[in-house]
Amino acid sequence: ALTIGIVGLPNVGKSTLFNALTKNQVLAANYPFATIEPNVGVVNLPDPRLDVLAKLFGSERILPATVSFVDIAGIVRGASEGEGLGNKFLANIREADAIAEVVRGFSDDDVVHVDGTIDPKADMETINTELILADLETIERAIPRYEKEARGKKIGPEVLTAAKEAQEALQAGTPLSSASIDLDPIAELGLLTTKPFIYVFNVDEEILTDADKKQELAALVAPAEAVFLDAKIESELIDLDPEDAAELLASTGQDESGLDQLARVGFDTLGLQTYLTAGPKEARAWTIGKGWKAPQAAGVIHTDFEKGFIKAEVISFDDLVETGSVQEARAHGKARMEGKDYVMKDGDVVEFRFNV
Ligand code: GDP
Repeated sequence: ALTIGIVGLPNVGKSTLFNALTKNQVLAANYPFATIEPNVGVVNLPDPRLDVLAKLFGSERILPATVSFVDIAGIVRGASEGEGLGNKFLANIREADAIAEVVRGFSDDDVVHVDGTIDPKADMETINTELILADLETIERAIPRYEKEARGKKIGPEVLTAAKEAQEALQAGTPLSSASIDLDPIAELGLLTTKPFIYVFNVDEEILTDADKKQELAALVAPAEAVFLDAKIESELIDLDPEDAAELLASTGQDESGLDQLARVGFDTLGLQTYLTAGPKEARAWTIGKGWKAPQAAGVIHTDFEKGFIKAEVISFDDLVETGSVQEARAHGKARMEGKDYVMKDGDVVEFRFNV
């Protein structure tokens, strides 16, 4: 499964957030792997549509999609030089498919800031710099090898070109995700600044309720997504029953918990989407990549579904709710028979037809 690595400077609230995430963790039954590593938190992707489907179909249970987070131990200034946990940190971050960077926005005189002041912009720059330096080192180690391989015609010239362009961008302080370079030829290097980023601002209640301030912080990281939460409130929320939790959220001007927001934004940033199935046994969301076609999507349920794919009967969630049942949707021409070239859309309610 694709994972999101949680990173951030020391004392920004990573552990508080991660503990809340793991407390919120889905039960093992919902998750295809028996044991979950201690530094991994698997949470449900909130999807109110499943509740609606479960009511329509009288489903016994609801199975949402999940999102996996990995807690990646502390980055510090000098991580790229292998200081402290630096090397382990870089190896862990290399394995993550997207990065959620926790940035401290809360002030609390009892919690020391590693660099002395609360300055989200400076903190982000510290981390960016470490990642850029780490990538630069990777590139500079690879270039002599690429030069040799290019001379021996083992690789095409595009590999060296990509490496040199990347080196130049990094030297100018540009993360590779913001440079318009074709990095496919050097994908094997697993460069850190190519990964999609989400910024998680761990802020005080005053900021949570201050739209202007949030706008200002979001603008610092755009086009990357920003999520605002108060890690302390999040860790209180998970111990409350739904009504009290809703009340506490409302008092901070939110209608969704920060953890739920993070799950949604994270799932999207990983390039994932869902389609839905429903019946008397279960209402379920299935995880696929954006742009996947129907047979590949069917393969997520069972490989036989992909191999023997004939067609998919697709009803959009909205049409299904409006007509009230599959039969009515069919009667109103809202159930489409789609073939193997159909590109799945988020919220498709699907039944596959296949040969065994
Ligand atoms: P980490 O080093 O990034 O993992 O940070 P921790 O989660 O251990 O948090 C460091 C300290 O900050 C702890 O004492 C937390 O209780 C405190 N802390 C974390 N989040 C918040 C927050 O949102 N507000 C306040 N006031 N304190 C927080």
